[in-house]
Amino acid sequence: MKLTDIWKSRQKPTISFELFPPRTEKTAENLEKTIDVLADLKPDFVSVTFGAGGSNRDGSLQLARKLKHDKKLEVITYFAGYGLGPDDITSVLNNYREIGIENILAVRGDKPEDENFKPHTESFSHANELVKFIKPKYDFCLGVAGYPEKHIEAASKEKDMEYLKLKVDEGAEFIMANYFYDNNFFFDFVERCRKNGINLPILPGIMPVYSIKMMEMLASICGATITENLRKGIAALPEGDKEALTSFGIEFAAAQCSALLKTNVPGLHFYTMDRSESVAGILSKLKSENFL
Ligand SMILES: Cc1cc2nc3c(=O)[nH]c(=O)nc-3n(C[C@H](O)[C@H](O)[C@H](O)COP(=O)(O)OP(=O)(O)OC[C@H]3O[C@@H](n4cnc5c(N)ncnc54)[C@H](O)[C@@H]3O)c2cc1C
Repeated sequence: MKLTDIWKSRQKPTISFELFPPRTEKTAENLEKTIDVLADLKPDFVSVTFGAGGSNRDGSLQLARKLKHDKKLEVITYFAGYGLGPDDITSVLNNYREIGIENILAVRGDKPEDENFKPHTESFSHANELVKFIKPKYDFCLGVAGYPEKHIEAASKEKDMEYLKLKVDEGAEFIMANYFYDNNFFFDFVERCRKNGINLPILPGIMPVYSIKMMEMLASICGATITENLRKGIAALPEGDKEALTSFGIEFAAAQCSALLKTNVPGLHFYTMDRSESVAGILSKLKSENFL
């Protein structure tokens, strides 16, 4: 089912989880367990990431197939176009269409770590070109990425908004937002979108704190501000106590989610990092407080 149809037909905000394909046997085993726990939480849909430069594209396809056909979950596959030529793009999208995928998040992607990777001469520079390429050829429900705090390369929030509008004008039907630790970034982003004539569903992304190292690393790559209250909360925990950090992360994210659910968000999209404990904890808390 198309996500836009799910949002139209569902009375309550959707709950969804992002997963990425495993790279080793050990992570594949862990992912199996994670999927079982997450599937029991009955998400409205799950998403599958796509490796930079098409690395592990088979892994993404296999994971999408497993989630859709074995686990009977609705799936959105991400597609990062960086460095890929039209034939590669078509081949990946045809494979997704063949396994019944109806939703695609079209992102530009970033330069892969592999120094030998050579971008295709006809590859696209920006996601709006990718949306323009996909839209007339496929019947996917197309989403694009949005950045409440602006994309890390963007000169200003205004410029970033201009380019987001371009993606919408090329045919995007919804926006998936990068995560943030202060809801005000998201509320301000939605307001600026509306002022700029973007009236699509904007799905907020939630990134629980899994470890301090991961939080710092992801924030520097994704351009998310680690807020003062988050830093203070972590500093007050016993040093090195992983359980205390996980519980704090659950509390922090659950408070963010409950405040978001008081507004008319279409849903909550959790960046699971292929883990289930924190997300299960957050949802259980939201249910116990009657937010879900
Ligand atoms: C929800 C979500 C899921 C993601 N999933 C993946 C994934 O699975 N795989 C992956 O590799 N990456 C993923 N990413 C990361 C994404 O690929 C990077 O953030 C990338 O740097 C930008 O992608 P984009 O689609 O936002 O690019 P764009 O929309 O092209 O924007 C990139 C930058 O260029 C500027 N810009 C946009 N259009 C133009 C234009 N026409 N001319 C000049 N400047 C322009 C923008 O302001 C921005 O600064 C994801 C990001 C999000 C938020």
